[in-house]
Amino acid sequence: MGLVHTMGNLHPGHLSMCQRSLKDNDITVVVIYVNQTQFNDQGDYDNYPRTLDRDRQLLGECGIDYLLVPNKQDMYPDDYTVQLNEIELSKHLEGENRPGHFNGMLTIVLKILNLVRPTSAYYGEKDYQQLLLIRKMTQALMLTPWVNIVGCPTIREDSGLAMSSRNSRLSVDGRKKASHLYAILRESLTPVDADRHLREQGFQVDYVIDRWDRRLAAVRLEGIRLIDNLPLNMLGKRETSV
Ligand code: AMP
Repeated sequence: MGLVHTMGNLHPGHLSMCQRSLKDNDITVVVIYVNQTQFNDQGDYDNYPRTLDRDRQLLGECGIDYLLVPNKQDMYPDDYTVQLNEIELSKHLEGENRPGHFNGMLTIVLKILNLVRPTSAYYGEKDYQQLLLIRKMTQALMLTPWVNIVGCPTIREDSGLAMSSRNSRLSVDGRKKASHLYAILRESLTPVDADRHLREQGFQVDYVIDRWDRRLAAVRLEGIRLIDNLPLNMLGKRETSV
């Protein structure tokens, strides 16, 4: 059984993971749940795009077997008084910029894994630090005897922009600008150069860093936070899609 855990507003990145799961497993379960505890910004939670009817239709066309759409009471009968807290990896980069985000994320991921009990669970490399934390959590809490964590490549638009539900909140102009993020990360010699080029293009930069054999970045554009990363061995190559 394969699990694809999402917050909905599905795009080809999510659907590619569904297709991978359909190929690898007898049964594919998709979860859609906008998890409030991982939002450190109330406005971001309120404005998160919710498109359940369309998502249902896409998943039907894709051929998945089960869709779970739990509500807050289903997931937090304890009112989030029990939390999963990782105290090392979760404190840097995204964790530093989004206090509480990774506690909320790890708590919901553990709950969903325990509920569904998949043999494989698929998560995107787009959220690279999240993927590392999920792997670490499943090892530390001894879930690995029954669940295999599978990392899936980032799906991009033709412009190179990594697909994300938050892209739909950018203006037409913002979306064009946002596509420079990937090109700059890829073409800059060092993270310091990338940081400078991004600021010149009008991005506010939270971080650009080379770590875990990847270049990772988080920026803000029109008040929308965008993250991306790529393997260091792809630096300097000019193709627009991975
Ligand atoms: P989200 O609904 O944004 O929480 O994402 C649900 C899952 O889809 C996570 O494992 C993400 O890493 C993954 N994901 C999001 N965007 C992409 C993308 N562009 N390509 C591949 N996977 C993605």
